[in-house]
Amino acid sequence: MKNILIVLFTFSFFNSFAQTKSPDFFYVRTNDSLPFLKYGLGEDRLGGAKMTFLDSNVVLKVVDSSKDDYKVQLSQLHSAYIQKEKVHRIIGAENNQHLTNSWSVYGDSLYDYLTIKLDERLPYTSEMEIHPTRITVDIFGAVSNTNWITQLASAKEIKNAWYEQPEDDVMRVIIELKHPQNWGYKIFYSENNKLTVMVKRQPTVLNLSHLKIAIDAGHGGENIGASGITTNIKEKDYTLLIAKELSRQLIKKKANVIMTRVKDTTLSMYERLQFLDQQNPDLLISIHLNSSSKDSIGGVSTYYRYIGFRPLSQAILKSMLQLRLDEFGNVGNFNFSLNGPTEYPNCLVEVAFLSNKSDEKRILDPKFRQAVATKIIAGIEIFLKNL
Ligand SMILES: [Zn+2]
Repeated sequence: MKNILIVLFTFSFFNSFAQTKSPDFFYVRTNDSLPFLKYGLGEDRLGGAKMTFLDSNVVLKVVDSSKDDYKVQLSQLHSAYIQKEKVHRIIGAENNQHLTNSWSVYGDSLYDYLTIKLDERLPYTSEMEIHPTRITVDIFGAVSNTNWITQLASAKEIKNAWYEQPEDDVMRVIIELKHPQNWGYKIFYSENNKLTVMVKRQPTVLNLSHLKIAIDAGHGGENIGASGITTNIKEKDYTLLIAKELSRQLIKKKANVIMTRVKDTTLSMYERLQFLDQQNPDLLISIHLNSSSKDSIGGVSTYYRYIGFRPLSQAILKSMLQLRLDEFGNVGNFNFSLNGPTEYPNCLVEVAFLSNKSDEKRILDPKFRQAVATKIIAGIEIFLKNL
């Protein structure tokens, strides 16, 4: 009996020793292919629910692996998933906790900035909040040593900035905005691992003639999209027709219009997002036509991902309902790629259903498509007027 216990003890001692000797985790850094964290491994038509996009070279601790994804430990209590193709492995262990340094809040001629000095490119997530209008950023692995937040008069949109340390290794940055409408923000690392939140100000003139509006015609080229139930018309052709009509009417109102495509081009979501990132619009409207396996389902719907961008999609839906289309609804937390950017308010418009006979008939009518463009613009104008 005694001998058996000794053997068991010895075995378990060496076993645990072996575990501490070779830790079953390693570190990776994100690459520059628009990496994003996911909450879990859930998959729907548009992929698992996204947590956040990340800058490149952000360090992540990998603790588990599946076929295409790594599970990464963000902090003691938080984990996430990232596609293996979005990261590369690095050598050498990193410290788990990082002290934060002083902050600055300031503005230039176009944007406000909040910067935080860190010693590493730590992962982060962000949320938009309404009533009051705030941006909150959680920095994982960050422990406060911030005793100094400089705030300059050049900051016009950031009303207040402060932090909480809700967990030992999570610092929460809270940015309160001056205007009720969130016009977007971008999080990235600038030189010397400075975490930067760039906050877009509300445009001074809230008129289409002073705004840059991006239009995305869904699908295109090899990506056909849905097909009409009786005529077999292709979604990609009719999203382009509506997008061009929308562009024509917006230009008439002296708006600055950019389009992700003007021809029957094959474009990936990554290419669309890269283009929009370079163009930096004030607003984005995506045009799609819906489809359902039930031909009785029809109507118009608008979609948003972040609560701060909901008002635009609500105003457009309300305006579109004057076209006597059925109400399919205003849909939140939608995982569509072009609802993903935090940089500018965006709205996906699913004009009507190609799988519904009466909707399809209307989509075929050029007068209806003109009316759709007019109502989308009226919706944008109501959104602007309400601010
Ligand atoms: Zn579509």
